[in-house]
Amino acid sequence: MGNSRAFLTINRKEAGYRPILERINDFGEVEQTLNSEDRVLQASRCMECGVPFCHWACPIGNSVPEWQDLLYKGRWQEAYNVLISTDSFPEFTGRICPALCEKSCVLNLENQPLTIRENEVAIVEYAFSEGYVVPRVPLYRSGKRVAIIGSGPAGLAVADMLNQKGHMVVVYEKDEYVGGLLRLGIPDFKLNKEIVERRLNILKMEGIEFKTRVEVGKDILVNKLLSEYDAICLAVGSGVPRDLPIKGRNLKGIHFALDFLKQQNRVVSGQIISSAEHISAKGKNVLVIGGGDTGSDCVGTSVRQKAAKVTQIEILPMPPEGVNAETPWPTYPNILKISSSHEEGCERRWSLVSKQFLGEEDKVTGVKVVEVEWIKNSKGCLTMKETGKVEIISAELVLLSMGFTQPVHEGLLDDLGVRYDIKGNVEAIKPSESSVRKVFVAGDVTSGASLVVRAIDSGRKAAEAINIFLR
Ligand code: FAD
Repeated sequence: MGNSRAFLTINRKEAGYRPILERINDFGEVEQTLNSEDRVLQASRCMECGVPFCHWACPIGNSVPEWQDLLYKGRWQEAYNVLISTDSFPEFTGRICPALCEKSCVLNLENQPLTIRENEVAIVEYAFSEGYVVPRVPLYRSGKRVAIIGSGPAGLAVADMLNQKGHMVVVYEKDEYVGGLLRLGIPDFKLNKEIVERRLNILKMEGIEFKTRVEVGKDILVNKLLSEYDAICLAVGSGVPRDLPIKGRNLKGIHFALDFLKQQNRVVSGQIISSAEHISAKGKNVLVIGGGDTGSDCVGTSVRQKAAKVTQIEILPMPPEGVNAETPWPTYPNILKISSSHEEGCERRWSLVSKQFLGEEDKVTGVKVVEVEWIKNSKGCLTMKETGKVEIISAELVLLSMGFTQPVHEGLLDDLGVRYDIKGNVEAIKPSESSVRKVFVAGDVTSGASLVVRAIDSGRKAAEAINIFLR
């Protein structure tokens, strides 16, 4: 341990976001970076607690105190090596992880946790700039072939680890880009797509083959893959968005959040979308229904598209005082989180249930909402009761952002005949193994919609299970 008293004298310092008036005019990343000197000082604040709660809270078990200490001592390359021993893609998690580690940092008792996430991204970016991150082409090939279906963080983590173990890996992706939600869901202002492409280039150079625009179950039958490969890993995410089937749902101008966000990511990547297909917030009153992270990404995107006004409504109540606002999604209190997008201009409303979409001709003009009260029942569970207070919120664009219910069953999953759990996710009958022989699972398809860090963890575990199976 380098400086045992630094936490007493050095305060937490974040790099912060770019000024609002600047950042709302582009889709560049909002978060800035601290200089190396500041980073080293921030790392020195780690107390190296006897029981490192940060390590325990991190889904991939990052050895946080070890790399903080190396960073404090200026041993950046060693810090990088320790970091990648547990995290396949720290350049993603360092940017968009809700940092469960920081919530568990003992210094958080004083609301001054270590800047673990920002230190992580500083280490990996330093490693890239110094040329430490080079393709590691496996020296040995096992002769075994594995097909990964889906190229999100889970699929990429499985592919990376299995390739490093010498197996030949082919990743199938239905979209035109590799990367899953990292590439086409999460906006560029949170994660620049060059960062994703940079990692994909390395994975390709290491020998992983990517086949895009191939929807398994439609463009190619899964039975063909089963006969051609020694194992398959399903990493297709949680693709069914929660709908709001109330009166007026078929009016024009009501869209699922992900359709809106994917389109904007495509536009940022240079694609031209025809005006008939374009979902634009420009000059409109935008209503985002759903108070979570996807909703806040819709807020930031609408602001950048120059919406006239953005309102975000949430059915749950504003969490009571004392509830930790930073408790990460999908835990309920996270709806209190103020993201960079909320700072950019958005009215947030709570305890509202949507009853009807209103329209003129065939276009949406607003949503009728009713206020609800949340009352604790005898078991301590919150139950909802409408107060009768009705309101109309004007909106020419409504974005449904109420989460995802399950993976798409039709096609691939039904064709395979995998067993589903009670929520409709693919059941892992043993860790990472589906009910069908030689078919493994990783990420949101089995956990339900979750986090990038959990998808990476799940992918790493699936790769271990597949490697044992192949041997
Ligand atoms: P996905 O990333 O969903 O990837 C699945 C891939 O499989 C997709 O590319 C899909 O096209 C492909 N696919 C599906 N079916 C087929 C098929 N039949 N054949 C071929 N390919 C197929 N998490 C965070 O930690 N931080 C955040 O800031 C954050 N922001 C988010 C913002 C949004 C808008 C959304 C929707 C989610 C966000 N998340 C965030 C959650 C996170 O992105 C997901 O938990 C994570 O991407 C899940 O990874 P995955 O690999 O399981 O699935």
